[in-house]
Amino acid sequence: MTQTTSTHHEDGTAPPAGRFDAVVRAAVGQGLLGEGSQVAGFIDTEGVRASVGALHDAFAATPGVLHTFAAKACSLVPVLRLLAECGMGCEVASPGELRLAVEAGFAASRIVLDSPAKTREEIRLALALGVAVNADSLDELRRVDALRDPGTESVLGLRVNPQVGGGSIGPMSTATDTSKFGVALRDPGAREAIVGAFRERPWLTRLHAHVGSQGCPLELIAAGVAQTYELAEEINATLGVRQVTSLDIGGGLPVNFTDETVHPTYADYVAALTAAAPGLFSGRYSLVTEFGRSLLAKNGFIGARVEYTKDAGGRRIALTHAGAQTATRTVLMPDAWPLRIGAFGPDGTPKGGPPLAQDIAGPCCFAGDVVAYARELPELAEDDLVVLYDTGAYYFSTPWAYNSLPRPAVYGFRTGARPADGSGKGRSDHDGPVAFVTVRDAQSLDNIAAESGLAHADALVEPGD
Ligand SMILES: *Cc1c(COP(=O)(O)O)cnc(C)c1O
Repeated sequence: MTQTTSTHHEDGTAPPAGRFDAVVRAAVGQGLLGEGSQVAGFIDTEGVRASVGALHDAFAATPGVLHTFAAKACSLVPVLRLLAECGMGCEVASPGELRLAVEAGFAASRIVLDSPAKTREEIRLALALGVAVNADSLDELRRVDALRDPGTESVLGLRVNPQVGGGSIGPMSTATDTSKFGVALRDPGAREAIVGAFRERPWLTRLHAHVGSQGCPLELIAAGVAQTYELAEEINATLGVRQVTSLDIGGGLPVNFTDETVHPTYADYVAALTAAAPGLFSGRYSLVTEFGRSLLAKNGFIGARVEYTKDAGGRRIALTHAGAQTATRTVLMPDAWPLRIGAFGPDGTPKGGPPLAQDIAGPCCFAGDVVAYARELPELAEDDLVVLYDTGAYYFSTPWAYNSLPRPAVYGFRTGARPADGSGKGRSDHDGPVAFVTVRDAQSLDNIAAESGLAHADALVEPGD
């Protein structure tokens, strides 16, 4: 298993200051974590703005880029609205995500619909709204043929799989030879079929590829984008007209989960793309990006109480309230998705003390519900808190309903004293007040019962039983 950085000091005494220490302390002080609120997700709204700013800066030299946020990475309406306000568009992949994007206030022209299993109804709605649609296959294109009104404002594209290979996490690799996504570009006859599909459809103007995600080196992603660029050039040259006018290059920038630093950066990504496909930034094509994890992961964390500790077979185990219901990926694939974990006292101050190897377990009733095995942390005790870092994307926003555990509350926060002019001057992550807002309420027991068929409670018994 990958060795990840823990928050204890080598000399085993004072822990180093962490970016969110003041936030954890304030969350306890304001009753958002502790007895009665066992687990919650937290989002750094200023951090999100800064990450969006870094993305826009990296592409600043290229006009006509639409940066969309992959809604699945943090499918919460207030987060999507924040991103809309920051100038992002939205990539959606289901009727539910499309609904969230519309509720969040994204203009239809800034929404892109992907997904490998779009129903006719979904396509019809997207075309009526004017949302861009990337068909995942030639069969799906034929459905679009039948449903498309010539007056639709939707930009229509075709997803290809450049088949450049996978990364280190099999289930995250979308560009293997046998990936389920897109038209497999290197299969026999595929290029000709794709060129033919564009020839028959003058309204088909976009190529899409998403080579990702986590675990894929930048060069691999860039090679996939370069293949897509070259295909666009080939289509336009063969047809003798610049029919392909935009390229949707997907997302998938990997995130560093081993410490607080952000790398690779968006600037590194643009440099890799420039090296692999210099023409990409020439202005010949307008570009769409679809980043998810890299915008949110480091701007969120999970805080959870330690309910008990125990020893079993010579091993220390901390039983916490953060398990598979909120850290699903890490619990199911601990080697692929290791998380940094911080240890805090009941008052929310970082714990010191010599490191002790402890299993950090969750509340679910299956033995594998462990977010970290033998992690060296200051010794945890009842009522302490653990913090799971870098969990702003695909963690608390995407809970699993196992054991009827409630969806945890999610809070947004701002740190530091903010001057009235809003300039951000004088802001510091380590002092000043921390202001929280509710992004999602914790799920209530009434709601759990309702979602578990309460309205149909008698459905399986005879009337009068
Ligand atoms: C998931 C997904 C993304 C975002 O991937 P990240 O790794 O979160 O950046 C972008 N595009 C498509 C089509 C996706 O499925």
